[in-house]
Amino acid sequence: MSEEKSLNFLEEIIEQHLAEGKYPHIVTRFPPEPNGYLHMGHASSICLNFGLTKKYPGYTNLRFDDTNPVTEDTEYVESIKNDIKWLGFEWKNELYASDYFDSLYKYAVTLIEKGLAYVDDSSSEEIAAQKGTPTQPGYRNQYAERSVAENLALFAAMKAGEFPDGAKVLRAKIDMASPNMLMRDPILYRIKHAHHHRTGDTWCIYPMYDFAHGQSDSIEEITHSICTMEFVPHRELYDWFIAQLGIYPSKQYEFARRNLTYTVMSKRKLLQLVNEQHVAGWDDPRMPTISGLRRRGYTPESIREFCDRIGIAKRENLVDVGLLEFCVREHLNKIALRRMVVFDPLKVVITNYPEAQVELLQGEDNPEDPNTTYRDIPFSRELYIEQEDFMESPPKKYFRLAPGQMVRLKHAYIIQCDEVVKDANGKIIEVRCSYLPNSKSGNDTSGVHVKGTLHWVSVAQAIPAEVRLYDRLFTVEDLDEAEGDFKQYINPNSLEVVGAAFAEPALASSTADQRYQFLRKGYFVIDPDSTTEKMVFNRTVTLKDTWAKEQKK
Ligand code: ATP
Ligand code: MG
Repeated sequence: MSEEKSLNFLEEIIEQHLAEGKYPHIVTRFPPEPNGYLHMGHASSICLNFGLTKKYPGYTNLRFDDTNPVTEDTEYVESIKNDIKWLGFEWKNELYASDYFDSLYKYAVTLIEKGLAYVDDSSSEEIAAQKGTPTQPGYRNQYAERSVAENLALFAAMKAGEFPDGAKVLRAKIDMASPNMLMRDPILYRIKHAHHHRTGDTWCIYPMYDFAHGQSDSIEEITHSICTMEFVPHRELYDWFIAQLGIYPSKQYEFARRNLTYTVMSKRKLLQLVNEQHVAGWDDPRMPTISGLRRRGYTPESIREFCDRIGIAKRENLVDVGLLEFCVREHLNKIALRRMVVFDPLKVVITNYPEAQVELLQGEDNPEDPNTTYRDIPFSRELYIEQEDFMESPPKKYFRLAPGQMVRLKHAYIIQCDEVVKDANGKIIEVRCSYLPNSKSGNDTSGVHVKGTLHWVSVAQAIPAEVRLYDRLFTVEDLDEAEGDFKQYINPNSLEVVGAAFAEPALASSTADQRYQFLRKGYFVIDPDSTTEKMVFNRTVTLKDTWAKEQKK
């Protein structure tokens, strides 16, 4: 960032800790649950955690929070690693909460030995009833009276697989009257005879999030464990376990979740969109996932810039997706190669241009770059322009092509429309023009001034392409506020496919990493669906914010 920015509240805390010598360096972690693909909310957490250890001495671990065997999958693990690397961050250690299952089991035994945990045979309904309410204290049942020896034996039997799912749980013995409901004898372990993506069938008891998370932080000697605000009430429990076990005192800090307008950011909801085929997959370019944005043509730089601009806050808020688009537009303007692509072709014949002649004109790859390179653009007698760039009876101030009117063809010549050719139904099928040979761009001695400049391609050299244009996935700004099922707000027009576009031949050598600006059309990137027969491009974003204008109407 070029401008000096004031410190955010976590940077302030960390600078103080480092100044006091509380820590020689800091250790943070990014702890995804591998039950889905990462989305923009995760990107903001990644930029925060990894950003802090880029700025201050220390490092960041990647820890998969894989304590729930049922929803987790290796596919997700791979995608998460890929996304973090793509965003430009490096973790120090790749770790798994499941690697700590033995340690966590021992911690549970320690609590039992200290008389701080007991095996409870109650059903989940009974446990919920015993918990009381925020205004009424809860109560314990007879199982809380079990001896240490009995609890140790039962917990070992739970681990050995002697009981079915749900038959028993291990609970901490804390305080059934605590104003914090999470302190009312929380569940530490539950029985689940389920296959785990890493530990296989070794375990049939699995630790609850609260029992796994803080201790995993402690094992890794995480100094600043950063999570989102919904974990504020969990902090007391986090500290309690660490204090009772006498292990490394990691500390939890919270920041507000980030949401984006016109989309959902919960893996559960995104999974529904994928499973019910409202989108083509997790990496559908309309998805707010990192993989979706990547396929859409977003750059890691633009996502990091966005996360940096929104910063961190203590109050949950909704960020305008227009800001994300602004960030990518700014970056792409600097790096995108300029190309011409006609979406909806109208044939133009230059009647005074020699029939077999093909001239190679020069077009700047990027006028924003002082050291720009140039590509060859073939020009010939037959060209395509956009249908919408021609009108037979134009209104005033229509500066595009019309009978008797002149326009400039970008990087080429000034042409004038002499004649309109129609088919039997009166549909315009061709426009016949003449060109001014002395009006070539860069060497124009014609003295003629025209107001309109059109993009175009030469028919013989044009390559067919499919172009995919995207709009918001949802029709309402704030889906959390919208009533009823979020899926009823899916935008039916979020994808528009232009099946028969024509691209200038320089695009034939497109690579996945290359970004393009199609003149007057927006920023584009090649899609993996592209084949040698038909290239497929995704529009990342339009050139200007047409959306903001739409809303003012
Ligand atoms: P989801 O509700 O989408 O499943 P999650 O919080 O359950 O999100 P995790 O994989 O558990 O997903 O999250 C990994 C990290 O990313 C956590 O530290 C979490 O707080 C953070 N995170 C998730 N969503 C957001 C968000 N919208 N804004 C900021 N941070 C987020
Ligand atoms: Mg989660």
